[in-house]
Amino acid sequence: MRLLLQWSGLRSNTRSSFVMPCASQTRFLLLYGSQRGQAKAIAEEIAVKASDHGFAAEVSCLSEEEKYNLERERSPVVIVVSTTGDGEPPDTAINFVKKIKTKTLCSVHFAHLHYALLGLGDSNYSNFCNCGKTIDKRLGELGAQQFYASGYADDGVGLELVVEPWIEGLWDALRKFVTSAMSTSQKDTNNHVGDHNAKNEMRTIESAVTDLNLHLLSLDESSSKDESGGSCNIVAEGEVLEASLTRSVSPLSESSLNVPALPAPFLDVELLNELQQDPTLLKPPETAHQVVITSAKQLTREDAVKTTLLLEMDISETPLVYEPGDSFDLLCPNNNSEVEELLLRLGILEKKHHIVKLQVKPDTKRKVSRLPLYIPEHSSLQYIFMWCLEIRAIPKKAFLRSLVEYTTNEHEKRRLQELCSKQGFADYNHFIRNPSLSILDLLCAFPSCMPTLSVILEHLPKLQPRSYSAASSIYSNPGRVHIVFNIVEFPPCPERPALRKGVCTGWLSNLVLPILQHSGGQMMLPEIQDASNVLPKVYICSRPSSAFHLPSDTAAPIIMVGPGTGISPFIGFLQHRKKQREEHPDVSFGETWLFFGCRHKDRDFIFRDELGRFQAEGTLTHLRVSFSRDQDDSTEEVKPKYVQDNLRLNAQDVVRVLFKENGYIYICGDAKNMAKNVHEELIDIFSRELQIDKLEAMKVIADLREKKRYLQDIWS
Ligand code: FAD
Repeated sequence: MRLLLQWSGLRSNTRSSFVMPCASQTRFLLLYGSQRGQAKAIAEEIAVKASDHGFAAEVSCLSEEEKYNLERERSPVVIVVSTTGDGEPPDTAINFVKKIKTKTLCSVHFAHLHYALLGLGDSNYSNFCNCGKTIDKRLGELGAQQFYASGYADDGVGLELVVEPWIEGLWDALRKFVTSAMSTSQKDTNNHVGDHNAKNEMRTIESAVTDLNLHLLSLDESSSKDESGGSCNIVAEGEVLEASLTRSVSPLSESSLNVPALPAPFLDVELLNELQQDPTLLKPPETAHQVVITSAKQLTREDAVKTTLLLEMDISETPLVYEPGDSFDLLCPNNNSEVEELLLRLGILEKKHHIVKLQVKPDTKRKVSRLPLYIPEHSSLQYIFMWCLEIRAIPKKAFLRSLVEYTTNEHEKRRLQELCSKQGFADYNHFIRNPSLSILDLLCAFPSCMPTLSVILEHLPKLQPRSYSAASSIYSNPGRVHIVFNIVEFPPCPERPALRKGVCTGWLSNLVLPILQHSGGQMMLPEIQDASNVLPKVYICSRPSSAFHLPSDTAAPIIMVGPGTGISPFIGFLQHRKKQREEHPDVSFGETWLFFGCRHKDRDFIFRDELGRFQAEGTLTHLRVSFSRDQDDSTEEVKPKYVQDNLRLNAQDVVRVLFKENGYIYICGDAKNMAKNVHEELIDIFSRELQIDKLEAMKVIADLREKKRYLQDIWS
């Protein structure tokens, strides 16, 4: 059988087409508001690209108010801002939003301002991109004008879908804006002849604005005869193959490609002598507190689809306090064997105890280049990979583009180029983004790719702590906090053949499982007298919620919607209410409704006994539970399957509680499906029961939300 090669190689050298930044560049102000660093990273990317396009971005965080002054700003302003929580501004943008919302500002306050805004959000949350939209609307109300249409990028489907084309279009918009501003100013000054600077500046821009962001690669017929193989594309003649991570099919395999510009390297990395102390011990930030896990319980039966664990932590030795509704950030390491596998693949495993010295390349072309703050000085290689880098992060296209430079096999190189190209967009989503591939998965699939350590450190983002809602009340459990979570599992797929657990939940389950004991279907820690030396310890930081708390008026009725682990904060609410009722028998307490849902009554109905007790003594007035997989096909009766079905069955009470009795509704749990479905069901309920159309019903929800009586704590 003759073998054919599926792809062709490359003709052009993609490194060659860079243009040096121009000596005289047009300034624009670039502001970002970031919670977890994404808006900041995108702003930095814009700043880097700006210089390729003849512009100079002056970058500031929205919170650095001393560094910019919008009241006087005449240059174009670009804002990149994320949204957090339930449509709230990131911490770094709170003051800015508050300031521009000041009611006394007049309608021409920002009439001099020209801006473009890129909002980041997640459409799984109902207040999608709310912070960006609020800023956009308010700037408009204050007379500012957009020089480029706003972009709203959705993390639910991939930020890059909007971010990449938005950045691509920004340069043209900036150029047009600057050109027209200049011609206006030249007319205004009556064709002032001595303005050499402005003309020179325009010339500089025009020569520099050739679109360098995307480089066109064409196919090279000759390299298609390269039969060196590699892992990628050898296809038997006559065989019809489907595309895979390493294999492309026509038309992509025959297409010319637009690939992103090669990100300029900016880190010099040196490995020094070996570190003597234990390289795996966390150097925690000041806000973190070490706490002991005093008990661990498996809440689900062995045959449940998901395993749910409850952990109790002792916070009595720390200054930490919380209210029901608050969360805690937990600092977790990457899986040690995965780290070792990655270091082995990078050829540096034997150096894992060596201290890493980082420096910014003195000659880097990257505009915003500084050492990653999340990599502490004097850390070992192993420490950095365990505690500082999100090694599971889905590699971005810029990362793939960099990997091309370190790949020797022509077919693998071509495939990596396809995957980061405009044309390979669908393949990137299908083979990398959807199965959540990591850098290690990619390196295993592309064996001739051997990136340097500096490339890896330049591209892997910070390992984020994971948040967990308090599932207890400190009032009834002094010095203790409970958290409840499902052990996340990524099932095997063609691109990643082994099952993988979530970084944090996998780690936590390993941490507690060896010391758990079986006890009547539940697992518990053994009773140990002085357990502090044997019990696992973790670092946590407080993450208070701004609004997701019980109403201060105890007489106000509340509706809680929390299927699965979404019940966590409501257990805290109910424990708190129980204690309040015991201690204040004369006070009046409003009705409490809980809508809970799970798969099977007998396998994953978590907190079943505790809820029964809350009901029996009157803390919980109404409990509605739905079981999505316990449907009985033999009867005509249709049982509620999901929480929204029970909301529908109790529609009149829901409306009474919210509108006649000024009650509150709280929704907690899965953002992907549940929160959206509940939101849609509430629109239906309100429009039916209040006899208004759907648009009006949506306004009713917006109004409840504004009054902080429709509250969400959802996660994906
Ligand atoms: P990771 O390794 O980070 O993986 C999780 C990611 O993988 C998610 O993005 C998810 O969408 C994706 N994913 C999951 N399964 C698959 C799959 N099969 N295939 C592909 N992708 C997949 N969680 C709780 O359980 N209980 C809580 O009380 C809780 N409270 C929270 C409160 C807040 C304020 C926030 C922001 C989040 C909360 N979370 C809670 C979520 C929690 O922080 C973690 O995200 C979750 O536990 C997973 O962490 P991990 O490191 O184990 O998973």
